[in-house]
Amino acid sequence: MSAKIRVTVWNEFRHEKKNEAVRKIYPNGMHVVIAEGLKKGGFDVKTATLDEPEHGITDDVLNNTDVMTWWGHVAHGDVRDDIVKKVQKRVLEGMGLIVLHSGHFSKIFKTLMGTNCSLKWREAAEKERLWNIAPNHPITEGLGEYVELPNTEMYGERFDIPTPDEIIFISWFEGGEVFRSGVTFNRGNGKVFYFRPGHETYPIYHNPQVIKIISNACKWAAPRSFIKDECPNAKPLETISSKNVDFGKAGVLQNN
Ligand code: ZN
Repeated sequence: MSAKIRVTVWNEFRHEKKNEAVRKIYPNGMHVVIAEGLKKGGFDVKTATLDEPEHGITDDVLNNTDVMTWWGHVAHGDVRDDIVKKVQKRVLEGMGLIVLHSGHFSKIFKTLMGTNCSLKWREAAEKERLWNIAPNHPITEGLGEYVELPNTEMYGERFDIPTPDEIIFISWFEGGEVFRSGVTFNRGNGKVFYFRPGHETYPIYHNPQVIKIISNACKWAAPRSFIKDECPNAKPLETISSKNVDFGKAGVLQNN
């Protein structure tokens, strides 16, 4: 394992190319802003986007990634199923995955969760207060009791996910809804963190506290080791004394 945690910031990168309002906020794509924020945190950061060959997720990239962050929205359906399978396999081996905002409907998140991952939403530039309900967790290191975002898209419960291993943040929205905005899951040998903020028409990833949370999550999700999947027939460690057992025709143990 290299000294620095190797992070691949993956972005669909479609809104920024087509929508002037989004381009103003993220002229080079939101992946560049997230990557620059993480670099300041001491990570070894690369980016990958949907329209690159293999979506920028080659075997070489996967084999050299400790943690991947994932942002997608309008083009979830364009992500190749074989690549989703490879990312899932790598998570099960140990790669951390940070799923951001509308990534709740990405193929990779739905695959890892096994549920619909649906939620309520509303785009009204309303205030969000993310309550830090796990102040002793590595993901909230250096944060206060809450983080406020002045203008956000609302996501509301019920969020159709399996019961999380840990709930890190609960959001309150000006319009009245609440949402489990930061949740963790173990999948195989890998750690998954879903983090809600990040709507493309608001400058969410320019917020230092948001970047701090993503940085903390990358540290938390970095694997100690990768474990290849296998299902071996195992030789006994000790000599097993021969058992004098006799199963009858019906497969039932006979008492002799
Ligand atoms: Zn959104």
